[in-house]
Amino acid sequence: MISTPWGDLPAIPVYLVVAFLGASFGSLANVLIYRLPAEVSLLRPPSRCPQCEKPISWYDNIPVLSWLILGGKCRSCKASIALQYPLIEASSGVLACVAVWKWGVGYSGMAHGLLLIGLLALVIIDLRHWLLPFAITIPLTAIGLLGAAFFDLRPLGSALIGAGVGFGVFLLLLVVGKWVFKKEAMGGGDVVFGAMAGSFLGWLQTLLMIFVASGLGTLLALILLTLRKDVAGRSVPFGPFLAVALVICLIWGQSFIDWYFHTLGL
Ligand SMILES: [Zn+2]
Repeated sequence: MISTPWGDLPAIPVYLVVAFLGASFGSLANVLIYRLPAEVSLLRPPSRCPQCEKPISWYDNIPVLSWLILGGKCRSCKASIALQYPLIEASSGVLACVAVWKWGVGYSGMAHGLLLIGLLALVIIDLRHWLLPFAITIPLTAIGLLGAAFFDLRPLGSALIGAGVGFGVFLLLLVVGKWVFKKEAMGGGDVVFGAMAGSFLGWLQTLLMIFVASGLGTLLALILLTLRKDVAGRSVPFGPFLAVALVICLIWGQSFIDWYFHTLGL
């Protein structure tokens, strides 16, 4: 059984519904991944086969299932449909279930599920295009702040200060980076990402996230440099490290901070 706003319900059907909803947001994530960097409208044209440009009917657009039924091919021209579509949809279904398992059925579970799916889309877009689109980070910041204002996602003051600190720290890094290195080490996308993270994490864990992300980046750079020398001087986008660090802080941040201050005797 799982506790929901409508009383205790059997867990398996609840998780099936959650997985389907998550996979549907995964379909949306696919649209965002392909259309945001290309600056194509999200609504027009409606989903269609990139090969024969025939519109895809609703029954061929059911997350994961349609791809399996069609054997990964377009119904009309038989062009193969990238494995990425069902993979993103299935992963989003799993992420939604993880969010409900950790944060329960309710606003918190929904907000964290959307955040995890949004992070998945952000990571893929950033790896391919070095972009963290506002169209994903701004709505998620709003979901974090609304959750603090109207649901008990976290105390409202903490969410507002967190968003402000996240925004401010990345803006500072952007300005200082530009001034010191004479090139853009950070972009506006990172600044709004900071606000988004802060609205979910509060200010202290947002700072922790930046440290964890820098640590992960340094660690990966050291490992890569030891394995092969030819990667020196190559740069990688910072967004994926921020996303992983954000998830680490969502799950373990508070316990780490409690342990840290306890150890210090504060
Ligand atoms: Zn086709």
